[in-house]
This record gives sequence, C-alpha cells and structure tokens, in this order.
Amino acid sequence: MTLANKKTAVSTAHIKLNDPFLLKTDAYIDGGWIKGAKRFNVTNPATGELLAEVADLGADETTQAVEVAHKAWPQWRDMIASDRANLLRRWYDLQLEHKDDLAMLMTCEQGKPLAQAKGEVVYGANYTEWYAEESKRSYGDTMPSNDPDKRIVVIKQSVGVVGAITPWNFPHAMITRKISPALAAGCTVVIKPSEETPLTALALMELANRAGIPAGVINMITTSDAKAVGGVLTSNPLVRKISFTGSTAVGKLLMKQSADTVKKISLELGGNGAFIVFDDANLENAAQDLCTLKFSNAGQVCTNANRVYVQDGVYEAFTKLFKEKVAALKMGNGLQEATQMGPVINQKAIDKIDSLVKDAVQDGAKVIHGGQVSDLGALFYLPTILADVTEKMRIRTEEIFGPVAPLYRFKTEEEVIAAANDTPYGLANYLYSESVTRQWKVGEALESGIISVNTTKYGAVQAPFGGYKESGLGREGGKYGLEEFLETKFMMVQL
Ligand code: NAP
Repeated sequence: MTLANKKTAVSTAHIKLNDPFLLKTDAYIDGGWIKGAKRFNVTNPATGELLAEVADLGADETTQAVEVAHKAWPQWRDMIASDRANLLRRWYDLQLEHKDDLAMLMTCEQGKPLAQAKGEVVYGANYTEWYAEESKRSYGDTMPSNDPDKRIVVIKQSVGVVGAITPWNFPHAMITRKISPALAAGCTVVIKPSEETPLTALALMELANRAGIPAGVINMITTSDAKAVGGVLTSNPLVRKISFTGSTAVGKLLMKQSADTVKKISLELGGNGAFIVFDDANLENAAQDLCTLKFSNAGQVCTNANRVYVQDGVYEAFTKLFKEKVAALKMGNGLQEATQMGPVINQKAIDKIDSLVKDAVQDGAKVIHGGQVSDLGALFYLPTILADVTEKMRIRTEEIFGPVAPLYRFKTEEEVIAAANDTPYGLANYLYSESVTRQWKVGEALESGIISVNTTKYGAVQAPFGGYKESGLGREGGKYGLEEFLETKFMMVQL
C-alpha cells in the first residue's frame, strides 16, 4: 500500500471494512487519485443513508485519461505475456483476500444480500484468474503458402485503448469480465462504472494499484454525467474499442456514436428470457431454481426469467409449488444474514416495476403473490407472481428488471418455441424437461446466446457469455472474450 493511499482513506460510520483504505471516493487516473471539482452522492438503497461523496469528473478528465492510457499502451503491450499474467494473478489474489470488504461495499451501495455479493466477488475474480492464464495463449496461425518463396503468418495484436462502460447490477463482475481480458490482450483501459455503484469499482482500482499494475494501464472515471464521458470515449480516435454492458437503448446509442471512428465494439445488453417448464420436467427442481434465479439480486439480472412458460398439464401443480417457495423468501437489508432478497436500486426502478404490474393486472393478470411495495421501505418491492399473463401485455415485451415472475400457459413444443423467440432480445433462455431429445431440439431452436437446461447455474468463466439479436454483439468469457480485444494481422514474407 502506498502512502498516498493512506492519505486518501475516508472513514464512514455506514460501511464497516476490515481494511478502511479500500473505501476510495476519488477517481483513478495514471495511478493517482483525482478529486475533481465536484462530487456526487452515493446512497444505500436499503436505508437511504448517504454513503459517500464521489469525484464527479467530466469530458476534459476523460480526454486526459484516454491520452494517459494511450501513452501507457506500448509498454504494457510489449511486456512479455507471463509478466502481464503475474500482475493479473496478483490482482486476483487481492480480490479474494479482500472478498469480505468488496462484498460489504457492494451490499451497501447496491443492495444485494451479502452472500450474493460475496458470490459475485468470487465469480468476478475468477475472470481475472482465468485471463491471467489465457494471456499466455494469444496464439496466431501459419498456413501453407501460395508461393514456394513466400511464407504466411497470422499474428494477434492488442487493439489499443479500450473505453469500457459498466452497469450497477453487478458492480464487480461486469468490470473484471472486461478489464481482465483487455489487459491480458495487452490493451490499456479507461472505464466508467455506474454512478450508482462507484465504491466497489474504486476498491478494485485500489487493489489493481496494490497488485502493481502500472500507472495508466487502468483508469477509472467516476461521473454523474454518463453522456459526456460516453461522448468522449466513443468519439476520441485514440480509443480503438468500446466494451459496454447495460441497456439495449444505451448500447444502440454508443454504437451509433462509435460509427464515425469505426471502433471495434462489444455490447452486453438487455434480455427478455423465457423459462420453459415442460410436462415432463422435474417440477420441484424447476420451481426451486426459478425462485432462486428470479429473485436473486431482486430480479435485476440481465439473464433473468422475464417470461415463465408452463405447459398446460403441470401449470396448476407448478404454480402451487413455486408460490410456496416464493412465500418463504426473506426480504430485508442485505447486511442481515437471513436476507435472501434486498431492495431494488432506486425509485425509477420501483416506478417501472409497479407500472408493469399495474398494467398487467388492468389487462386481466392475477396477482398470486406480492404485487406492491413492501412496508420495509420505499425501494423494497415484494417478490411477485402474476398468473394468467397474456402475450399482449406490456410486461411481455419489456425487460422487467425486478422481482416479478409472470406465468404464461402453453400447449405444444412448437407453440412455446415460437413464443419464446418472438422478441427482439436473445440473451438467455432456460428449459426444464427430462427428455434428452427435447432438450436438444428445443435448445437448438431457441434464439439466444445462452441456453440453460435443467439448471440456472450456467456461470462459467471459460464459456462465452453474450446475446443474439438486440441483446448484444460479441462475447465475454473464455477464449472468445480475449479475441474481442485482439486485432488479426496477416504477414506475407518473401524469402
Ligand atoms: P444503462 O442505463 O444502460 O447504464 C449502463 C451504463 O451506461 C452505466 O454506467 C450508465 O451510467 C451508462 N450510461 C447511461 N447513459 C449513457 C450514455 N448516454 N452514454 C454513455 N453511458 C451511459 O443500464 P443499467 O440500468 O445500469 O443496467 C441495466 C441494464 O443492463 C439492463 O438492461 C440489463 O439487462 C443490462 N445488463 C446486461 C448484461 C449482459 O451481460 N448482457 C449484464 C448486466 C446488465 P450511469 O449509471 O452513471 O447513468
């Protein structure tokens, strides 16, 4: 830990950390902490308490960070891969060593229960570990020449400066899933975390600094003006790659903005996933998995089950089982050990969820559990089940991003495949059936980047994560994730 880190440590009554120097509130550029002229507030969604006032940077500092990252690039790019790997590995070790503090920061600013926050830290850190190893495997190719006196070689080279923008729902993992492969490939990064969750993000910068990742290789801009920062990242010609996770609407905007400088781009966007329960499914497992998936992170998960399709013959039995499990869920402040579901992120989220539920009810859906804000506080929405939902309702087409499970009834395999695919999104779909033939047939017919069969635990750092259609472009994770940060160069050599 450097002396500078000690000087900038802030102590707050609301966040109890084993290592108080992990509470950083300044932005991070060129290995230093930048106060900026303004601050923005970060609050706890469970209590409304003010947690911290964070540096509010703008376009000028973003331009400066891009220039810093560009200057740091050649040295980082040309470092031998195993040296880069060692630094990434150290960053991974520090993330695990400080797992409890990272989770505490996350629960305080984002609301998810502490156990889920710890799970996210491990999941996020695993990307750093995996890419530490993969940085040594950025292989090229050779191919037989079309001339006996020439040789053809294909090499992989880092793209350059990466502009990254991440959301609040997974404040740790969405950062490491981008930065780790970018660094492994030899790129440098300017990253903007969400205004809602900068504390987890800044703690990760502190740990990267302690790991010895050189100044300028990662730079973090905290801001309340996402538009201004996004404007610089997408228009500055020194930025050669945009990697974004967030809503489809903002993803489309960034794609348009990046067009003039023809940047390489990856987008991890919204979803409208189907969770399909066939007559031959193990209903107990399906109901339990749906309950865990749907209400984890208070439903604020891009790959969540937005539409639950249950086959006619088991609709009543499944609904009863699912309702029993939902009724047993414990909602509360994520810092309390028993809590299984916390608040949603802000009032805007509550308003959207409530309006989707009200619209559905007005059009004939039945609330069979929840359906309103709880008396625990303004941002606690009760875990909700809606039955008799139809294909015409607004909740059918919009991403809910909250703790609401709408149940639809279907009769045939063909009907449910057509319904599940009838959406511009294509991120994740789930299917429950004991028939191996059906698992393959339906799995291959569903249009999404992720198909999860008889499980909701599809998370694996070595696998490609990403969407079809308007759910995104490119993949994160595995060898596919490294490729996103590499250029392919073909060299023809005359002997
Ligand atoms: P969002 O509103 O699109 O915000 C995502 C990020 O973009 C935040 O950092 C936000 O900054 C920033 N942003 C907003 N407007 C911008 C602009 N005009 N220019 C540049 N940046 C801008 O999404 P969110 O509400 O944070 O996250 C939820 C969405 O993310 C959902 O749709 C979810 O499905 C999706 N998501 C997808 C994945 C995936 O892997 N496919 C994973 C997680 C989440 P501020 O927050 O500071 O405004």
